[in-house]
Amino acid sequence: MQRIKNYINGKFQEPKADNWLDNYNPSNGEVYSKIPNSDEKDIEEAVIAAKKAFPAWSNSTLEDRSQVLHKIADGIEKRLVELAEAESKDNGKPLSLALTVDIPRAMSNFRFYANALTQFSSEAHESVGKNTINFTLRKPLGIVGCISPWNLPLYLFSWKIAPALAAGNCVVAKPSEVTPMTAFLLGEICQEAGLPEGVLNIVHGLGANCGQAIVEHPQVKAISFTGGTKTGEHIARTAAPMFKKLSLELGGKNPNLIFADCNYEKMLKTTVKSSFANQGQICLCGSRIFVEEKIYEKFKEDFVAEVKKLKIGIPSDAKTDIGALVSKEHLEKVKKYIDEAPSQDAKILCGGNLVEIKNHEKGYYLEPTVIEVKSNHCKLNQEEIFGPVVTIMPFKTENQALEFANDVRYGLSSTIWTSNIDRAMRLSNSIEAGIVWVNTWLNRDLRTPFGGAKDSGVGREGGFEALKFFTEPKNVCISY
Ligand code: NAD
Repeated sequence: MQRIKNYINGKFQEPKADNWLDNYNPSNGEVYSKIPNSDEKDIEEAVIAAKKAFPAWSNSTLEDRSQVLHKIADGIEKRLVELAEAESKDNGKPLSLALTVDIPRAMSNFRFYANALTQFSSEAHESVGKNTINFTLRKPLGIVGCISPWNLPLYLFSWKIAPALAAGNCVVAKPSEVTPMTAFLLGEICQEAGLPEGVLNIVHGLGANCGQAIVEHPQVKAISFTGGTKTGEHIARTAAPMFKKLSLELGGKNPNLIFADCNYEKMLKTTVKSSFANQGQICLCGSRIFVEEKIYEKFKEDFVAEVKKLKIGIPSDAKTDIGALVSKEHLEKVKKYIDEAPSQDAKILCGGNLVEIKNHEKGYYLEPTVIEVKSNHCKLNQEEIFGPVVTIMPFKTENQALEFANDVRYGLSSTIWTSNIDRAMRLSNSIEAGIVWVNTWLNRDLRTPFGGAKDSGVGREGGFEALKFFTEPKNVCISY
């Protein structure tokens, strides 16, 4: 059975304690590889390697750094199909999605920051009348920790690593233990691209062991984390007293506001996607759908009809719309929310059942589920389910829609469907979320700030925001 290895100091190695975890294939429930159950000793070795590599990497020219990042992007592009197959097998997502979204985006992340680092500049402030000039140096932080989740494995891993490296830092990174495979392959790609040893170290294992060891390590100056709000809270509690820089991209419970004056066909098609893409396991999925009363019954009928057409199947089948959920534990968690729906005065309109697929009977398949709720205060509307489950509910007025949208602890993204520009602007101003999409969804320009408000996180990724996060500004004031 394949054994994934840690990538430390430019070499692949086994965990020091010779301790291993099972890695499951969600499409059939079988263990198909072993991953290192690393601990603080492996992290220590990674930190030592990163420390040794830092002086040369942080002083490398922008051109050299940019060239290596481009080579990593080339390596991902060259191995696109292999990486997409690995991602799909590891995560359960349709291969078609990994081929068209996950892996191309991971490639773009490296490409984007290979270019962005050559355009990143610091400010100068001339204090006129005082014969003084100030300028700001932006120094890399040193060693930084990047910790990512399982839903978009290589996509989110690279979204952190690329800017951290571009800014001149050395990185100790940990992918999710649930989906480690493409991070392992990224190590090979970095080796082939000529990334100097120790600049990027990828350590595999459990959050509580090796993740915690990264966060606690005194030499790690910043943590860029994407994952659940509860984990983010725990990380903040550990890192804040050590005065580490923190970027936390956390959970969401995103509202999708649909007005009667919207482009109905476009809205319907996109809403199916924003509800169920990647089995609803995207932090940006619109999991709470609110529909203007006038078109509520029509929407309900049409939406349920469209959802029923989605094909649940094995991830490698090109016709599959809904693949497997990522793990047995996650499937059980999502199913529990569905089973509790009747006790919350909510009605399952379609889906809700586990699905058995021939020759893949032990896979983690679940029907896409639409639940009609009576109140925005029920658990189904207040807690992040993070699976193929959406709720729908009518609203009467724009103000009521806004109230529903904001009446939740999260504030990651939101979607508004309307052809009224005034309304779109009013709502965009008032919605408590880091991202507002109007008449579109998951439409991303990598230059824009990405992140959440409220319990969805702290800080922003994307564009120069990430380069700013991964550097320490130092002002120099010269009198002449
Ligand atoms: P998770 O919080 O369980 O794990 C995320 C990562 O943190 C994993 O690598 C895990 O091993 C690690 N970890 C766990 N405990 C740790 C600790 N004590 N110290 C250090 N690291 C630790 O999240 P998950 O279940 O993998 O991912 C799903 C969650 O991620 C959802 O809540 C989803 O909304 C969120 N998410 C957010 C965004 C965003 O951009 N805001 C994007 C994707 C996913």
